[in-house]
Amino acid sequence: MVLNIPLMQQAGVVTGKNLRALMADAKKNKYAIPAINVTSSSTVNAALEGARDNKAPIILQLSQGGSAFFGGKGLDNADQKASIAGAIAAAHYIRAIAPAYGIAVQRSSYPGYCEQADSSPVVLHTDHCAKKLLPWFDGMLAEDEKYFKEHGEPLFSSHMLDLSEESKEDNIALCVKYFERMAKIDQWLEMEIGITGGEEDGVDNTGVDNASLYTQPEDVFDVYKALNAISPDFSIAAAFGNVHGVYKVGNVVLSPQLLEKHQRYAEQQLGQPEGSKPIYLVFHGGSGSTKDEIATAVKNGVVKMNVDTDTQWAYLQGIRDFILKKQDYLKTQVGNPEGESKPNKKYYDPRVWVREGEKTMAHRVAEACTDLGDINRL
Ligand SMILES: [Zn+2]
Repeated sequence: MVLNIPLMQQAGVVTGKNLRALMADAKKNKYAIPAINVTSSSTVNAALEGARDNKAPIILQLSQGGSAFFGGKGLDNADQKASIAGAIAAAHYIRAIAPAYGIAVQRSSYPGYCEQADSSPVVLHTDHCAKKLLPWFDGMLAEDEKYFKEHGEPLFSSHMLDLSEESKEDNIALCVKYFERMAKIDQWLEMEIGITGGEEDGVDNTGVDNASLYTQPEDVFDVYKALNAISPDFSIAAAFGNVHGVYKVGNVVLSPQLLEKHQRYAEQQLGQPEGSKPIYLVFHGGSGSTKDEIATAVKNGVVKMNVDTDTQWAYLQGIRDFILKKQDYLKTQVGNPEGESKPNKKYYDPRVWVREGEKTMAHRVAEACTDLGDINRL
């Protein structure tokens, strides 16, 4: 399948109308784009490699903690300074390298074209920002506005505000306030209503009551109404029993079929025919989900699924297996089972063992793309 939208002419990071076209394409053609949490140039490269090999659009996202890590844990993160600087550094890195992961597409259906270098569209996003982390958001948004003045687009394609711990009224009001600014620079907003259970990046929701783990259609529509009055470029992470991480969690049941109710309710309120699916939905806490659950979520308008825990695990696997297999080559700089004077440099060079993690992570990213139907989209 070839996407017949102008975004394919643009290399690398997509924003504004190109991002809107990509999201509309995903919703219409019932696939979702995996959002991979990245924390370093190495994990960025692994994610881009997996996406490129599947001709898959990809979302790379940084959490507040991941941003600080990207900048370096040796930095002081007072007032979110390290998270702001790290996120901005990551954004520039991704913008610089993403076009290099271009895909050479054989345009056999177009006589005269033999080969054309296209590029995997990359969405540059930031993950959960709770109220106490707003200084991080403010720092990035200031940079987005500066970048917009110079380049006519924001530095990041999109950001997430997660004010799901606040009252619905406060959540919506703060989202509106920020979205008014973001809309002026053609930026997409992801917001959360209802709570994703579990623990991620220092936010512990393992103790919240069950009702808030399932968002109601009326609440989703209240968000839709308030944000759609500003711009169509937003998505909603509604809770349907999702939990961050891979856990056994008692009586919380993942219920992606509930998402259909959000779409139906919105269609009725808007007087749209059944199946219009006006809402862009986001699936958090997707790690460990079955392929059926994922398929149901995508059918109901999920266009983005976050993948973090499973790619963290995949990144470790390659490194762990290499270290365990080669441990007798990693104990001294010189000397291994092949001889006392044999050098071990080609085993302890980070380009060797870090690369093993990149390979297993790229493979897991490719699997996520496949599960979500995000393959051969270019
Ligand atoms: Zn999440």
